[in-house]
Formats: sequence, structure tokens, C-alpha cells
Amino acid sequence: MAKVSTVFVCSNCGNESPKWFGKCPACNEWNTCYEEKQTAINSNAKIQRREMPEPTLLNSIKKQDIARSSTGFEELDRVLGGGLVKGSLTLIGGEPGIGKSTLILQICDKVKGEGKVLYVSGEESAEQIKIRADRLSINNEDILFLGETDMDIIENAILKVKPKLVVIDSVQTMYSNEITSSPGSVSQVREITAKIMRTCKQEAITTIIIGHVTKDRKHCRPKSIRAYGRYSFILRRRKIFYI
Ligand SMILES: [Zn+2]
Repeated sequence: MAKVSTVFVCSNCGNESPKWFGKCPACNEWNTCYEEKQTAINSNAKIQRREMPEPTLLNSIKKQDIARSSTGFEELDRVLGGGLVKGSLTLIGGEPGIGKSTLILQICDKVKGEGKVLYVSGEESAEQIKIRADRLSINNEDILFLGETDMDIIENAILKVKPKLVVIDSVQTMYSNEITSSPGSVSQVREITAKIMRTCKQEAITTIIIGHVTKDRKHCRPKSIRAYGRYSFILRRRKIFYI
């Protein structure tokens, strides 16, 4: 049976508490507490047995084994330490309308490596993305589009396509059925990020997650996702900030 519980979450740092708080005990911010309902579902049945991985000697890993793909943007490559690392998760954050989707579409077009790119959008339709691609003169046979917000369907699509790059636009629009709180809530964002990371790590797929940063404290701020991502960025007036 699914068990529903109530937790109080800090919208600033994602700290969870069984009791309501006026001042967050973790980050000391005031009035950031809000209530979230969580359903714990016994997911044992969903866990599939995989082959046991062999631990590797760190010293035996050659530098060439760390495959990096250029994003086509010198500045971004530099912050990434030479490009996107295969199988890594990168978070790109910024205020709505700052140009995240445009930048990502250009990365989809230019990213080096074999295979397809899967662009998952819960924000825009295929037509809207196509209009943007045309405006940017992007004509790339390797870019696939999926308009979806249900994580189960997205995971299945990732496993079916096995792309070199997955883009999730945006994390706030996606939802997992295993959690009852609404899309964009701290627990949903955390669950989505963890799920994507598990799937893509397992398949060595590079992932970019787009997150909106708003001044509204109720919405997710990158801090909640930061723990999962290898790198996080905030776009401000098209400049990239490493956080
Ligand atoms: Zn806090």
C-alpha cells in the first residue's frame, strides 16, 4: 500500500523537516517553508537486476578514456573543462526568456560524437522547436524531438533511442508518478533529476537539464538540483556563470 506523508520543505535549499519551520534550520532563510505531500511507493518490483559492474583501478584509467565532446561554444567548453563528459549530467539554469532553449538547440546541432540527440520538451511543441531550428539554420538529421512530461515515458524513449545526448527542457515541467506533489516542487525536481541521472549513467548518455530560475521562492532554485549535477550554470544576459 502506498503511504502518504506530509513533509515541510525549504524552497531555498530543499531541506526537509517533519515539522513546520519559520526559519530554515539548514540555510537560516526565513519564510521559505512549504508543505508537500509525498507518497512512498514500494518500488521493489520495478528494480531490475543488472549485471554486477567490476570496480576499476583508478590508476588504470587513461586520460583518453574520459571522452569529451565539444559543445560548439568555446566559453561553455572552457567552463566544462574541455567539453561535455560522456555520461555526465549538466544543469543549465536561467530566468525564462534568457535564451536557454536557443543555446541548447545550438549545442544539439554542434555536439560532437556518434549517435542521435533526444530533445525532450514539456515546454514547447515540435512546431515551435522547428521554427526556432529554422531561424537558427539548423538542419540536422540526428536531432529527435519528444514532447512529453511523464518520466516513465521519457525513460523508455531514452532506453529505446540510446542517444549520445539527452536534453530535458525543463526539469520543472516533468513529473514522476512515484511522487504525488506537483511538477516543479522540490521533491519532484529531485526525483526527476535522480531518475534521469540513473538512466543516463547506466547507458553512458550525456545529459543536459534545463532549469528555470525565478525570483519566486516557491519554484525550484538550482540549489535543489546541484547535488546531482556535475556542473551547473546560470545564464545571465547570455553570459554563463558557473555555480
Ligand atoms: Zn533552507
